[in-house]
Amino acid sequence: MLNILRRIIQEVNAAQDLEQALSIIVKRVKQSMAVEVCSVYLADPNTQHYVLMASDGLNPQAIGRVRLAPGEGIISVVAETAEPLNLDNATDHPRYRFIAETGEERYHAFLGVPIIHHRKVLGIVVVRQHTQRRFKENEVAFLVTVAAQLSGAIAHAEVVGDIRGLQDNRHDGRPLEGLPGAPGVAIGIAMVVYPPADLDAIPDRKITNINAEIVAFMAAVKSVQDDMAALGERLSPKLNAEDRALFDAYRLMLGSDTLINNTLDRIRAGSWASGALRETVNEHARIFDEMDDPYIRERAEDVRDLGRRILVRLQSGKRNIPPYPDNTILVGQEITATMLAEVPSEKLKGVISARGSSSSHVAILARALGVPAVVGAGDLPVARMDGRELIVDGYLGKVYVQPSTTLLAEYNRLLHEEKQLVAGLAELRNLPAITPDGLRMPLYANTGLLSDVASSLNSGAEGIGLYRTEVPFMIRQRFPSEEEQRRVYRQVLEAYAPRPVTLRTLDIGGDKELPYFPIHEDNPFLGWRGIRITLDHPEIFLTQLRAMLRASIGLGNLHILLPMISSVTEVDEAIVLLNRARQELCDAGEIVERPRIGAMIEVPSAVYQAEALARRVDFLSVGTNDLTQYLLAVDRNNAQVASLYDALHPAVLHALVQVAEGARRQNTPVSVCGEMAGDPAAALLLMGMGIDSLSMSAASLPRVKWVIRNFTRTQAQDMLAQVLTLEDAGAIRACLNTTLESAGLGHMIRGGGISGKHHLPN
Ligand code: PEP
Ligand code: MG
Repeated sequence: MLNILRRIIQEVNAAQDLEQALSIIVKRVKQSMAVEVCSVYLADPNTQHYVLMASDGLNPQAIGRVRLAPGEGIISVVAETAEPLNLDNATDHPRYRFIAETGEERYHAFLGVPIIHHRKVLGIVVVRQHTQRRFKENEVAFLVTVAAQLSGAIAHAEVVGDIRGLQDNRHDGRPLEGLPGAPGVAIGIAMVVYPPADLDAIPDRKITNINAEIVAFMAAVKSVQDDMAALGERLSPKLNAEDRALFDAYRLMLGSDTLINNTLDRIRAGSWASGALRETVNEHARIFDEMDDPYIRERAEDVRDLGRRILVRLQSGKRNIPPYPDNTILVGQEITATMLAEVPSEKLKGVISARGSSSSHVAILARALGVPAVVGAGDLPVARMDGRELIVDGYLGKVYVQPSTTLLAEYNRLLHEEKQLVAGLAELRNLPAITPDGLRMPLYANTGLLSDVASSLNSGAEGIGLYRTEVPFMIRQRFPSEEEQRRVYRQVLEAYAPRPVTLRTLDIGGDKELPYFPIHEDNPFLGWRGIRITLDHPEIFLTQLRAMLRASIGLGNLHILLPMISSVTEVDEAIVLLNRARQELCDAGEIVERPRIGAMIEVPSAVYQAEALARRVDFLSVGTNDLTQYLLAVDRNNAQVASLYDALHPAVLHALVQVAEGARRQNTPVSVCGEMAGDPAAALLLMGMGIDSLSMSAASLPRVKWVIRNFTRTQAQDMLAQVLTLEDAGAIRACLNTTLESAGLGHMIRGGGISGKHHLPN
């Protein structure tokens, strides 16, 4: 069974579109289960009808025509219960409905299994047989496995509106779920970017100059043929006859009608050469993959190798990048800093990356550039996105493909409102963040790049609440030297002096890797991370501490923050090392002031020890991004569980209250520097708790300042008291929204960042 399943999955994955994938499924399932019929019904997202999309065994004329309304027939029973239905005689079932077009009256045995993705029934796969019998347990299990594998492919196709017959091209189907990478919304045209020499990364792309494409392709083939001939000749004295035959096989393949002519046919049909080559190579490789003889199966790799070689030649000519659309949404499997930098900045409106997390390079850069981004969109069918119209919602981490005019109008309205809001907020720049009843709440910026220090100054930030020093480490090929670090830190400290700047010591590990310091762990978020690494490597830690101290000479605004603290000993040890670094500098004759030192509260154990930690340091800073992930056991970088990740979860709020109380008992100031601080509604709650300052991305700052200037501390305390009685995040969010709306701050609800839900489809 496992082998059959593997083979089916392989074939389905290689299918060009959903239609082909479904016909492979029905054919293979029918064969392997030795039944008379296998069919797939899919739900039309707009009408909720179940439509017969593929069948091996039923009348082919019925495909696309049979549409079952909700509640109609036994198919609906499977949909309603979301469970397999196994009947020895379907016609006995009270919900059985005879459908003349399918010619199905001859079948008795029925097994229907739901195809479920993210808790939603997308469709049903059904097998039928003449005889009356119940399907065996292992048969049910087999079909359940097939259905589970199919769900991802169907969800992909639904996202891009590619299920022909189910919906027209523009739709409001479910959005593609990713992670918020950089805040904001954007509407634009997808431009797929891809790494060189990677055949699978090549997107579909239409061309008009067919001749030029043919000439380029033939030139590429010719140069690979020449390479092969030269290679074969060079190696022939060293190779035995069998191995030499490999080169002959390569040469034969290169001269073969199939590889060349099929590609040319695709080019003539309007595809660009690289896309046509990808399709042809995949088609041929698939034929070899299906062979039972392992030796012949290996030939699939040869075909792919040849494909890659031709691709390299195609790409080494002029770079075949069509002009970027005026409103480019950059789309890719993995978007690198260079890909981002290549787009003229006035044209770059949004970014979507299938990989990555909120702390990956692409997200950091997009935030610095102020470009909305969605990352970690694992379900993104990258190859089929080029040229499609998209909406990027960087607040919620959602992407809409080919949206309907209604949805476009709604997002255009939001964009317009945002522009007005930003223009209005600009006036706040030089005003303090102070409540109408006189509470000062300093607002600081989070940064990690030197280039966004200026934009954070412009946003009216009163200092830097979190400078992520791992960023200058990540963009290098080796550990930066003490002097290199000192120069970077000096620029940040100087830009803000005399206002405070909080430099966090190196926080690598987890999902933040340095290319020159790889860490391989099964469970990196619970592994060697942050302070654990720097305490284990005093040479790295001391270098960084000395660089920070030297950078601060004469400025007096340095704060040092320790990440991932889970016990008081880590703080004690870090302070010993800090004192040593300072002593070394004093011994060398440099006069270094004692910086203020803080501990991050981002691990549950630190919440319970907040008071003990507060006793040892000058300030606490709560990293709600990690604290939420560790309290809720939800990976902050996993789109699959993104809906469970919510900083407004009552557990997180109660933890924050406990931290604020612990710090207060020691008279130690406490700030919040996770994304939560940039959510206007959450910021008010934090103010109600008695948090002393907030640090957030520069883009969020004006909004937060606006709500603080319009909401009293007493109101914030009342609102906090109310939400602390609630037991789930949804109710808390609803309560906050109602309170903000009745205070006339309704337009601030959207665009907070962490978990703002709005009225658009989920
Ligand atoms: C946090 O965890 O909330 C935080 C501010 O640190 P980072 O996002 O860099 O892990
Ligand atoms: Mg953190």
